[in-house]
Amino acid sequence: MKKLQMGPAKVKEEVKKEEAKVKEEAKKEEQKNNGSATDDLKPGRIEGPFSGVDKKLVNCVMAVSAFYGNTLKVTSGLRSNRKQGEVMWDYWVSNLKHGMIYDLLIRNAAKRKELDDLYVARKREEVIKIVEPDARIYSRHVTGGALDIERNTDQKMVNALNLILRVYDEALCYHLDFRGRTPPGFPISDSIKSKWKR
Ligand SMILES: [Zn+2]
Repeated sequence: MKKLQMGPAKVKEEVKKEEAKVKEEAKKEEQKNNGSATDDLKPGRIEGPFSGVDKKLVNCVMAVSAFYGNTLKVTSGLRSNRKQGEVMWDYWVSNLKHGMIYDLLIRNAAKRKELDDLYVARKREEVIKIVEPDARIYSRHVTGGALDIERNTDQKMVNALNLILRVYDEALCYHLDFRGRTPPGFPISDSIKSKWKR
């Protein structure tokens, strides 16, 4: 109600204030994510697109890479909304089981059918257009909360990752995120490392 009584200049000022607040919060969040986590950044090696991905996730991967002295290869990191649509188009039948892996589409059968019918009719752009606005609901990749690594990654390293984050076997890659897990502290504690098998 307050805003209704404001003149245009006042509204503009309020919007500016609001924007500054959002920016400030984003900065704080970023600092929190960086934390002391950079300690583990040097010795490990990651190849592939991981820029823009949650630092804690990257640091888990770095720590495991450093521990085993092996490069970890990322196949997918941060995705745009459109990219999420493209990925879903590409893997709709193989990995994504015609959408049956998504809660959103399991709950909304009509939407899943719409997407599936468009897929069968080879309407790529239309599928992407429907996915785009909900991209972040479909995948943590859109908000930088997920990483995919090569499927042929050394199994010892996959097991080590599985102790500090969620590893989901996507058949063509391993998908990593913190769903249902609490990120570890950094540097990774010796008690965790003692469980990493050489
Ligand atoms: Zn993934």
